[in-house]
Amino acid sequence: MDNAGTGKPVRHVLGLSGGKDSAALALFMRDRVPQMEYFFCDTGYELAETYEYLERLEAFLGKPVVRLNPERDFDHWLNIYGGYLPSQRMRWCTRMLKLKPFEHYVGEDPTMTYIAIRADEDREGYISTKPNITAVYPFKEHGIGKQDVLRMLDDCGLGLPSYYRWRTRSGCYFCFFQRKAEWVGLKENHPELFDLAKRYEKVDEENGIRYTWSQSESLSELERPERVAEIKRKQEDALRNARRRAPSEKLFQIFSETLNEEDDTEPCMICNL
Ligand code: SF4
Repeated sequence: MDNAGTGKPVRHVLGLSGGKDSAALALFMRDRVPQMEYFFCDTGYELAETYEYLERLEAFLGKPVVRLNPERDFDHWLNIYGGYLPSQRMRWCTRMLKLKPFEHYVGEDPTMTYIAIRADEDREGYISTKPNITAVYPFKEHGIGKQDVLRMLDDCGLGLPSYYRWRTRSGCYFCFFQRKAEWVGLKENHPELFDLAKRYEKVDEENGIRYTWSQSESLSELERPERVAEIKRKQEDALRNARRRAPSEKLFQIFSETLNEEDDTEPCMICNL
């Protein structure tokens, strides 16, 4: 990257989401770019398992992961956006809680940002468009796919974040990208967080507008015992079929694939890599 005219050295930064791909990329780049700065955009609404995983990763990297906090929290922005919960079409949370703190951190410095999109993925990152920031994709350049990432994490002993048993994506506990089975997982593993997420949902009695995380049903509807049983039954059926198709795959892979069958919505790229 050309830094002529700025007189400043190029910074190399790598954002961790608390997920497997960015963790593997950090390990992959550790010795290749020793001056790398690692950061984590902490919305303040992350799972405890994410913080625990980042702490373990720091030990493997031998460097701290800088925590970036937004200037104002989710509730402030929710108010500014008229009470409209973020959704796939109105993803203001990523911009305000993740992208802006990152851009503030980098400032006007010429910067290379390392993105953990894998070679076997066909998608774009939700990244900054500031002219001083250039994105690079080492996994794509080196042909590194999902199996390589899993092997890398296994071989070094870091493994996967513990929430992967019931959720495949990092990010806020109330993230609207969660699939039904993951909401059930949140209720079973963190009932207090499920209740907090539920408190954000509202129905406007006058016009009937529903402010819910998921378009199709509210969390109050989803948590009814018969609905939970139905979601779990479907998930179990999908798991059984997936195990039959690929008996050697690990539980995480099978779990993740069955969720993708349920809903293949692209997750938030800055939060879920
Ligand atoms: S994890 Fe989900 S809720 Fe949190 S900032 Fe990203 S898209 Fe928004």
